[in-house]
Amino acid sequence: MRRPLIAGNWKMNKYSAESVELVSQLRELVSDVKEVEIVVAPPYTALGSVADAIKGSNIFLSAQNIFWEESGAFTGEVSPLMLKDIGCQCAIIGHSERRQYFGETNETVNKRLKAALKVSLTPIVCIGEVLEEREAEKTLDVIEQQLKEGLNGLSADEMEKVVIAYEPVWAIGTGKTATPDQAQEIHQFIRKLITQIFSKEVAEGTRILYGGSVKPDNVDQLMSQKDIDGALVGGASLKADSFARIIKFKS
Ligand code: PEP
Repeated sequence: MRRPLIAGNWKMNKYSAESVELVSQLRELVSDVKEVEIVVAPPYTALGSVADAIKGSNIFLSAQNIFWEESGAFTGEVSPLMLKDIGCQCAIIGHSERRQYFGETNETVNKRLKAALKVSLTPIVCIGEVLEEREAEKTLDVIEQQLKEGLNGLSADEMEKVVIAYEPVWAIGTGKTATPDQAQEIHQFIRKLITQIFSKEVAEGTRILYGGSVKPDNVDQLMSQKDIDGALVGGASLKADSFARIIKFKS
């Protein structure tokens, strides 16, 4: 059985004090949740204060990005061990906003992924097509290329630690959600690809999250799909009550 994972990506929102307030409210609301793995990804500047605020709770901490080098002259970057040092257990990799605005490619995703695995940070690797690709019926090709290039060179043992997030870019922050059937179709395709690249056993154990305008009113239907194992949530994770309702989905 795959344990559901619900992750909140706060993006470039929330100062330190606001982050602590948000996560403290969340901590109260979800203290009774046992079956779901809960992850929050505040901005870098709030990681330390959020790490303190979630000590002893059932909430895990993620960075929104990770650099692949260990140390050195890389102004502005944050290394894998720095993230561990501040209390992170996970790192989001290859989010579409990083691909769109910061030149992230499948190759750099692959480097970040290997760097995260090396220090035992759980990577949450984002893939997904843009609207023009969907309209041109290229979704499956795009997903296949992102997955094959992004996961290039990983062993089956390493893949067992990876979480995939399928996020159709046209559904991120737009209020448009893929229908549960549309999402399920792609999740099933991703699992089939993981079977081909690694093995059925690895594919059956891999958690594949859905992301793109997940809200309290659509999470139950999405989570009732066979191959949807959780959600990566942007906007709706910025309010404790809506994120808590998503975490407490009913399927
Ligand atoms: C995201 O940031 O990964 C995301 C899915 O955002 P939203 O939920 O706001 O669409």
